[in-house]
Amino acid sequence: MRLDGKRIFISAAAQGIGRASALACAAEGARVIATDIDAEALSTLVDEDNRIECHRLDMRDGGSVAAFAGRQPPLDGLFNCAGFVHNGTILDCSEDDWDFSFDLNVKSMYHAIRAFLPGMLEQAGKTGGAAILNMASMASSIKGFPNRLLYGATKAAVIGLTKGMAADYVGRGLRCNALCPGTVDTPSLRSRIAAAPDPVQAEKDFIARQPVGRLAQASDITPLVVYLLSDESRFVTGQAVLVDGGVTI
Ligand code: NAD
Repeated sequence: MRLDGKRIFISAAAQGIGRASALACAAEGARVIATDIDAEALSTLVDEDNRIECHRLDMRDGGSVAAFAGRQPPLDGLFNCAGFVHNGTILDCSEDDWDFSFDLNVKSMYHAIRAFLPGMLEQAGKTGGAAILNMASMASSIKGFPNRLLYGATKAAVIGLTKGMAADYVGRGLRCNALCPGTVDTPSLRSRIAAAPDPVQAEKDFIARQPVGRLAQASDITPLVVYLLSDESRFVTGQAVLVDGGVTI
């Protein structure tokens, strides 16, 4: 299996892309540490082979993340998936909105990487490689969208963080990449559609911006998650990898 024997931590694993990634990594033989702030939703995440262990963890709480990492054996893979979509222009974005989004979308990655990195470098020294994957988006430095000012700013920061990490640790067996999905049909997308003034039109608009003519399913994204956390991507680092249904053609 493609992730046989690897220990992989995933944040925001209770639903959406994080949950599907936990299941996909477990199906490829990984031991998955699945975490989320929503303990109830997380409790329903079970895989056939019992390779997933679930823990409630708030990625915005640096102290808890560090304490959690301190209790864990070293990781082979870290997937920082947690993030929030702010909707609106700069005039709709309060300073609190700004701080919340940067805290969850970017600073949580700082907490996780600092906490897990020493063990991952140790692990990379033994096995030849370890991988960090950070969730960005095509809505970032790659492409701008209306009402995604704050979201795009945070995800562009994720790409910068990713490239900096890749540059600093390329000689020590640690790779770091960012994933940049198009629009994916997940619970939070469904709530963004439901909150629109005309939900039917909002769904059509989301679909229309993807030339393949449909929303992505989480299962369209997980093959890249598995690849970027596996040794198959051993020559890939510092990249913002798009999986966007042709938006950026
Ligand atoms: P989602 O938004 O439906 O679920 C997010 C999960 O994050 C929830 O389970 C929630 O409980 C958890 N969470 C929230 N705050 C947390 C915290 N402080 N600590 C730990 N967990 C927390 O999932 P999604 O739509 O798959 O999005 C996952 C990631 O993918 C996000 O970073 C998002 O920006 C990114 N992304 C999503 C899309 C999309 O269209 N859905 C596209 C590109 C990128």
